[in-house]
This record gives sequence, C-alpha cells and structure tokens, in this order.
Amino acid sequence: MYGGGKNNKPRSAKIISYAGLLIPSLIVIYGILIQSGVIYSSHPVDDFGFLVFSFLWLFLGGLQYLFPSQSKLDSALRLIAYHLLAGSYLVFISGIFSPITVCWLILTVASFIYFRRIGFYLNILTFTFVVWSSALLWNRIYGLSPIYYLIVLLAVTITGFVFVAVSRYQEINKAELLESKAQESLQRDRVTTIVNNLADAVLSTDTDGIIRVYNAASLNLLDTNVSLNGKHLDEILPLTDQEGKDISIFKELKTAKTVVKRDDLNYAFDSDDKMRLEITFSPIRSSYSRSKKSETHDGYIIIMRDITKAKSLEEERDEFISVISHELRTPITIAEGTISNVQVMMKHPDATKKMMTDAVGVAHEQIQFLASMVNDLSTLSRAERGVSASAEEIDIKELAHELHKKYSDEAKQKNIHLNLDLSAKIDHVFESRLYLEELLQNLITNAIKYTKKGSVTIIVKQKNDVINLAIKDSGIGISKSDQQKVFGKFYRSEDYRTRESSGTGLGLYVAQKLAHKIGTKIILKSRLNFGSTFSISLPAKKQ
Ligand code: ADP
Repeated sequence: MYGGGKNNKPRSAKIISYAGLLIPSLIVIYGILIQSGVIYSSHPVDDFGFLVFSFLWLFLGGLQYLFPSQSKLDSALRLIAYHLLAGSYLVFISGIFSPITVCWLILTVASFIYFRRIGFYLNILTFTFVVWSSALLWNRIYGLSPIYYLIVLLAVTITGFVFVAVSRYQEINKAELLESKAQESLQRDRVTTIVNNLADAVLSTDTDGIIRVYNAASLNLLDTNVSLNGKHLDEILPLTDQEGKDISIFKELKTAKTVVKRDDLNYAFDSDDKMRLEITFSPIRSSYSRSKKSETHDGYIIIMRDITKAKSLEEERDEFISVISHELRTPITIAEGTISNVQVMMKHPDATKKMMTDAVGVAHEQIQFLASMVNDLSTLSRAERGVSASAEEIDIKELAHELHKKYSDEAKQKNIHLNLDLSAKIDHVFESRLYLEELLQNLITNAIKYTKKGSVTIIVKQKNDVINLAIKDSGIGISKSDQQKVFGKFYRSEDYRTRESSGTGLGLYVAQKLAHKIGTKIILKSRLNFGSTFSISLPAKKQ
C-alpha cells in the first residue's frame, strides 16, 4: 500500500503487507474447509464461484506483498478491491456469522492508517452495507432476528473503534517521544558545542577512570592527536607533584567527594619539558543514576588548564618583591640612622659643623641611591605594562648626537672622551623612542661609570637593512663568569672597582627588558681590564 506522505509508517506498512498475504490465504483455506464440508456454512457457493474468489484473493494478496503501493491513489484502489472482495466473501461464502468476519477489523485499521477518519467511516459504512445485504439476501431463508445482525454490526464497529483509538493513542505517544528525543538531542548538541569551544581541557571518565568524552582543547593541552577514548586517565595523564613524586590522578578522583582543585601538579612531555597544570575534578552525580544511593556516582569530570606561565610569573613576582624589600632596607636604614645622628648632634655643643655635613652627605647619598632605584623600578614597570610603547619614526643620527651632547660633560668630569662614530648614511628606525632612549642611556651611564680612563664611544653603523647601535668603552671590563649574570636583577659584580661606585644592579636588567620590548636583544662583548661593548640591532625603516 501507500508508503509515503504524512501517514508514512514503514513498520505498519510492513505489517499490512504481511497481513495482505496471510489473511487472503487464511480466507482461502477457510473457504476450502467450507467447500469440503468440514466447516458448516449456511450458504456455500458452487466450486467455480469459489475458485474465482480464491484466485482474486490470492492475486490481491500476492500483489500487496510483492509490490507495495506507491501512491495514495494506488492504496485507495487496493483498499476498494479488498473491501469488495471481503464484502462479497462475507455475503456469499462464509456468511457474516462466521469467525472469519473478525478479519474485517484488519481492513478497518488499514483504512484508518491510510485515510484517517474518512477511511474509518467509509469502512464502517461498507460493513453496514455488507450486514444489511446479508440480512436482505439470506434472512428470508433463515428467518433470523435482526438483533443478530445488529449485534455483529455493533461488535465489529465498536472493536474497530477501539483499535483505531488505541492506534491513535500510540501515535500521539510516539510523537511526544520523538519530540522529547529531539529536545534531548538539541540539549546535548548545545552542551557539546559549549564544551568543544572551551579553552580549558575537559575530560569525562566512567567510574573506572576510562575516558568516555573529551574536547578538542584536551588534545591541544596534551599535545597529541591520538584519540583518548577508551584510555585510562592515569595512562594519558602521568603527573608528578612539586617534590617529583608520581601522582595517580585516578586515586585522587576516587577520594573526591565534591569538587577538588589542585594547582601543584606537573605533566611531563619529556624529561626537561614540563607543564604546570591546574586540575579541577569532581564526581558526576546524575539524576538518572543507575543506583540511587547518594554516595554513588556515574564517573568523573576533569577540567585542566596550563598554568605554567602564570605560576612562573607569580613566583618571579614573589621573589622580586622579597629582593626589592631587602635592597631598599639597607639604604633606608643608613639614611634614617644618619639623620637621627644629625638630630642628636644638633643638640650637642661639641658636634662640629664638619661632622654634621659628613653625616648629611651620607644620608643624601643613600637617598640618591633610593631615588635611582625607584627610577629604575618605574622604568621597568612602565616597560612591563607597555606604557609609552607606541612606535614612532626615529632619526637615529639625531638621537646619537643628542645623547652625545647630554653625556659629554659627565664624561669630561671623569677625564673620559665621549666619542661618536656614525656611518655616513643611517636610515631611520620605527620603534618606541622612550624605550630606545632609556636603554641607550643606561648603557652610556654604565660605560662612563665603569671606565676610569680612556674613552666611551657611541657607534652607529648600518649594514643593508640592519642598524647596529653599540656603546663601547675602555673600562674595567667584565669577567667571563660575570657576563652571564650582569643582566640579572640586582646583580652587581664582586669586583672592587665596581663597588667603588654606587649602583642598584637593576640598570642592565631594565635595559634588557626594554630591548625585548622593542624586539631586539643586548649583546655583550667584554674582556676584563680591556673594556666592554654592549650592542643592539634594529631593522632600518626605508625612507
Ligand atoms: P649597576 O650599574 O647599578 O650596578 P647594572 O645592572 O647597570 O647595575 O649593571 C650590573 C653590573 O654589571 C654592574 O654592577 C657592573 O658590575 C657590570 N657592568 C655593567 N656595565 C658595565 C660596564 N660598561 N663595564 C664594566 N662592568 C659593567
């Protein structure tokens, strides 16, 4: 029969196609039993008539089974044929008081399935006509009370009605089920989309720690493209704590009653490539849990984040604060002590003016030192926050001349020559002027500070598109072992000549930070007692 459109029901169509074959066979067998006298019928037809009937039934049944209907018209024609045959069979062969009448109900249900209410009413109308024809044809011979006919009519109609009602109820139930399934799948798709788009790695395991669900970020975090499904959590997540002790995350999960967060675990890619992880895990308690006991759960959810950078920054900051407070304490204590001495001296008649001047001089020196340290720190903080980082076109030649002019006097006071060595043609550069200037100033003041005699030279050369800026001095030089350390914060060489001048140990640290900010690096070349050269390279901006 018809298998498409709104009433397309492949399962019911299949049932009807089998019924279409079986019921005619049953009807034919029943007819043979009547014809052979095994079953009594009040009005059997002759053998030829029965043969025609049987042939038509089997033809229709075979047709229905082998070639299911393709269109609504086809279904309608077949249903009409079935109704005609069934009606004639009931009227002329079996009689409507035979058990085979029950088979009419199959036609009732099929009519409803394919043509809804219209089909149902037409079917009942046809049956009424069949009953009425039977009564008209045969009652004169058998003289049965009309009540019997009415009972058969009512029995088939009511049963047909019940069948149809049940089938409708099932249809509604099925529609509701489909709707709720669609809602559930939409909900699942929403959650999956959210989880897949999270920057954090999310894994879900069953109660045995076997991974069942994970998002794309998990693969990124673990730097793999191999499927994690079906793998044990401990297998893909070998972790160690801060003491290097192996940690089984699955064991941790099993002891977790609620949400647990740990940020002290390391994941090792290999022996010297480690990642610090923040792991949040929790048992999953589903409202549809198979076991209703509150202490049971359906697996675990694990959320992971790479905090290597954040942790190292945090540790660096803590260390920085502790070093700074230590470095500030000494000059503050000295300045505070000498000033309170001066206060005492002022009340004392024996204290000479020279004693007081010396003490004030010491305090002043310490305060100057503090000021230079605060200055370095504020440059550092500016560079780290990216303040004044906007790039601009800088005429390097002009900048070199400016710096030369600015520091010539300072050099002269120390009997040092400040030279300027410039190539004939130097292009401009495009960088943050403030950062570049502060960087060069730090290098020049150091060069002057750590040179006792000789010269300091500001060199600017260009080779192709690269401009090289260097500050060369003929000063005390830096030993090989110190060359690694001088860019560290608060580092000052142990050399007594360094200690002759005051310094914070922050100058080169800040200068290197500034160099990084403008995309370059300070290169140091030095020989102890022969001088040092600090240089940077910058890309030229073609004019
Ligand atoms: P500070 O000069 O305040 O001590 P810096 O960070 O500028 O701190 O320098 C760190 C150390 O590097 C200095 O203490 C000094 O030992 C060494 N240094 C820096 N510049 C020079 C230089 N031009 N010649 C020799 N030593 C230098």
